Amino acid sequence: MHRTTPLVAAVDIGGTKIAGALVDSEGRLTARTQRPTPAREDGATVLAAVHEVVDALRADPDWSRVRALGIGSAGPVDASRGTVSPVNIPGWRDFPLVLGVEKRLAESGAAQGAGGAAEVPPIVLIGDGPAIAAAEHWQGAARGSANSLCMVVSTGVGGGLVLGGALYPGPTGNAGHIGHISVDLDGVECPCGSRGCVEALASGPAIARRALAEGWVPPSGDASSAAVAEAARAGDPIARASFERAGQALAAGIAATATLVEIDRVVIGGGVARSGEVLFEPVRRRLADYAVLPFVHGIEVRPAELGTDAGLVGAAAAAAHVVGVEAWG
Ligand SMILES: [Zn+2]
Repeated sequence: MHRTTPLVAAVDIGGTKIAGALVDSEGRLTARTQRPTPAREDGATVLAAVHEVVDALRADPDWSRVRALGIGSAGPVDASRGTVSPVNIPGWRDFPLVLGVEKRLAESGAAQGAGGAAEVPPIVLIGDGPAIAAAEHWQGAARGSANSLCMVVSTGVGGGLVLGGALYPGPTGNAGHIGHISVDLDGVECPCGSRGCVEALASGPAIARRALAEGWVPPSGDASSAAVAEAARAGDPIARASFERAGQALAAGIAATATLVEIDRVVIGGGVARSGEVLFEPVRRRLADYAVLPFVHGIEVRPAELGTDAGLVGAAAAAAHVVGVEAWG
């Protein structure tokens, strides 16, 4: 690793934490930093926490090698306007995040009196789903696949698409948001305003809620989806049925996506995916019920490989791609 090779800074904003790192062209992370997200506070307070993360990265001696800053955020985002409206951060609605970070970098550069131009790297905003797709395509389970869907199944369900060999974030940076396509026309109302969304059937809370409603009794009061998975593994029929329903919803969503844009691989990560075969087995099996046309046969379903760093790696990859950072694939 040469001291002069370009780096990309990355910030990953979620409902519970704001993470930052410098990322090299091999996907390695340095200068890691993290703050809790003050998600219940006003917008300025949340921005101040982002500033703290960016300032910590900026204090790193390697900052001079940074050629771009990628920001991945919980969605929806509007990458074309640089604004974010994360569902789980109510203080941010159409919040001008990119402008805020740009101003901070320009001001602190000027304050430092850095000789010559106070260089503010170009900032690229992307939704967290497409960011994870970029990461898995670059370094993880979607490597080598030109057309894939990468999903996160946890407290929510999100995703991103790689099409024709490249990340497809869409005009606003949200493409691939499979959690909010409807797979049940008259199904339960979703907080997004629609009905029968994949997320409302397959998220961790949905799996736990359904098991409880059907009479599952959580051991030692732990009613998490991980506890339902444990019970399903032990053969509890109600717990198994709840994962079956989640797998069915995911399979229908995946089949719809594949039929629209022809994907050959699906990567699933997130907390619920860590339940393993309890989730993956019904997804693969039920896919045969919904992905029926010849051109969507044989879709591979794989677990994600990158874990909690995927958001940072992907935000960096997406920014490097948009900016055209040299030596980045
Ligand atoms: Zn929805």
